[in-house]
Amino acid sequence: MKQALKHSMIHLAHRSGLVPTLCRIFAGRAAILMFHEIQQDHRSELTTGTSVALFEHSLNWLRQVGWEIVSFDTCLERLTADPGPCRYAVITFDDGYRDNLATALPILERNNAPFMMYVPTGALTRTLQSWWLGLRELFRIGDAVTIDAMGMRFHCPEFHEKVSGLNKVIEWIHQDYHRAEMLASTFKKAGISLSALNEAYFLNERELQKLSRHPLASIGGHTVSHAALSALDTPSARAEMADNRCYLEQLLQLPVRHFAYPYGGSKACGPREAHLAKEIGFLTAVTTRSGQVSDSKSDRFALPRVGVGGPFDTTTRFEVRMSGIQAAAAHMLQMRSFTSSAVER
Ligand SMILES: [Zn+2]
Repeated sequence: MKQALKHSMIHLAHRSGLVPTLCRIFAGRAAILMFHEIQQDHRSELTTGTSVALFEHSLNWLRQVGWEIVSFDTCLERLTADPGPCRYAVITFDDGYRDNLATALPILERNNAPFMMYVPTGALTRTLQSWWLGLRELFRIGDAVTIDAMGMRFHCPEFHEKVSGLNKVIEWIHQDYHRAEMLASTFKKAGISLSALNEAYFLNERELQKLSRHPLASIGGHTVSHAALSALDTPSARAEMADNRCYLEQLLQLPVRHFAYPYGGSKACGPREAHLAKEIGFLTAVTTRSGQVSDSKSDRFALPRVGVGGPFDTTTRFEVRMSGIQAAAAHMLQMRSFTSSAVER
């Protein structure tokens, strides 16, 4: 019911043609957009990333309605120095996928759009336990998938059954990241090699070195092993962040000043990780918490982002999300429930 209401609100807001006006009223001063894969064939990748069409549309639309696409550093400078009405968008990519170079870069170049790419060491060294790629492969190739650790068998010959089954298992992992390790025997039984998937889907060291020299590119840290940092003790969490930074700086011979928490939700990062990011010397750290940046006083070590992509995203949803109206409505509802509970007390 709540979903249906949300769906109708999105379409109503979009059909009214008021999105650019709503943007001027409700949107923050900056939005950090979060992308992962930019897929030529979104369907064959079970709609896990962002389609080329949605990616291209999002860049064009931002410009049309007056968001200036800038680099992360420029955004920080402008937020501090310019109190004016301009709005800034920052494009970020997580994990270092090869299609960011092959597919997204030509579109970014056409739009003269700077971007940040957050890269974990393990993607480049092919040691990453990229369970999400393994799971996608399982559902792509199988008409029935058994996840022993979950005690579930999915009958999935049809596309929508594959997408639904895959997302159920992903959700199960997000509830407890230790569960990812329990998938190893399932992958082995199906003949799936995570290191081969890493080779196929992630940039290699040479490609990242080349990309890092591109005038539109900045490279940020994303830990050594893409670990959920909250689940680690403090020395291990610090090493995950610091060793990745050191590795990237040596490989690229460039300073690495920005960081993205792997998974980035409240189960994966909090005040301790923000403190560590600051202590290690990063200038900013981004989460996957949904939202825009209101002003220069926002916490630079817990920055929200606007995710774009996944199985249910559309150009309409993206535009309405960027208008800030959903966040404003959620905030108003929160205030209302706070006021009524205060009155009740
Ligand atoms: Zn990531």
